[in-house]
Amino acid sequence: MSILQLCNVSKSFGDGKSRNDVLDTVNLTVEQGEFIAIVGFSGSGKSTLISLLCGLTQPDNGQVFFKGKEITKPDPALGVVFQNYSLMPWLSVRDNVALAVDSIHKDKSASERSGIVEHYITMVGLAHATDRKPAELSGGMRQRVSVARALAMQPDVLLLDEPLSALDALTRAKLQDELAAICEQEKKTIILITNDVDEAILLADRIIPLTPGPKATLGKSFDVKLARPRERTEMNADDAF
Ligand code: ADP
Ligand code: MG
Repeated sequence: MSILQLCNVSKSFGDGKSRNDVLDTVNLTVEQGEFIAIVGFSGSGKSTLISLLCGLTQPDNGQVFFKGKEITKPDPALGVVFQNYSLMPWLSVRDNVALAVDSIHKDKSASERSGIVEHYITMVGLAHATDRKPAELSGGMRQRVSVARALAMQPDVLLLDEPLSALDALTRAKLQDELAAICEQEKKTIILITNDVDEAILLADRIIPLTPGPKATLGKSFDVKLARPRERTEMNADDAF
């Protein structure tokens, strides 16, 4: 069974003259363990697609299935990194991640949970900033907290809405490597929205273009699995940390 499926999904915003038909009869099937990149111009409906896939937005027509079941509301097994960080401003980096971990991993002990929090904060290179609040971080650092929070929830599917585009080149390279490793080692399904075609080629098994135009549809996918090894030879991003 496919892990995620969009069947004839359409989505518009507004009414009458201001009606904006964003997605038109979109179909997508994602298999367990696939790393898919969806590329498209700004305004083409990528973020709308992510919120449909995670159950935050409902389609006007069509259906979204997660593990064969129609989703009509957000499911914690679908971890999302939004474009706009959505961190709690009054909480520290540690507590932003811990809030998510504590709500998801209720079966684990307090020390296991704090171990998970520290692990993912360290993974994104923020071990030195755990006590800082979002306002005391740069944009790229906030984005890394969002990535850590989503990873720490250890969801079945990671939906990533341009999570790396605001980052500096070294941090981006390091997180690209981490995402590739997570997909391969933990057999996680990842859907990455990006406007960076090089990033899509580097990371994804399959690239799906969101066609531009008043009504976007998903184009024919490109299989890149055999086209390149998922390795980075030109630099070692870990050296930067
Ligand atoms: P992308 O992520 O590819 O840049 P979006 O999915 O954010 O594109 O937006 C696609 C189109 O849908 C844009 O024209 C945007 O203005 C519109 N849109 C997105 N969300 C809403 C909303 N909640 N209400 C009205 N229009 C929206
Ligand atoms: Mg967007």
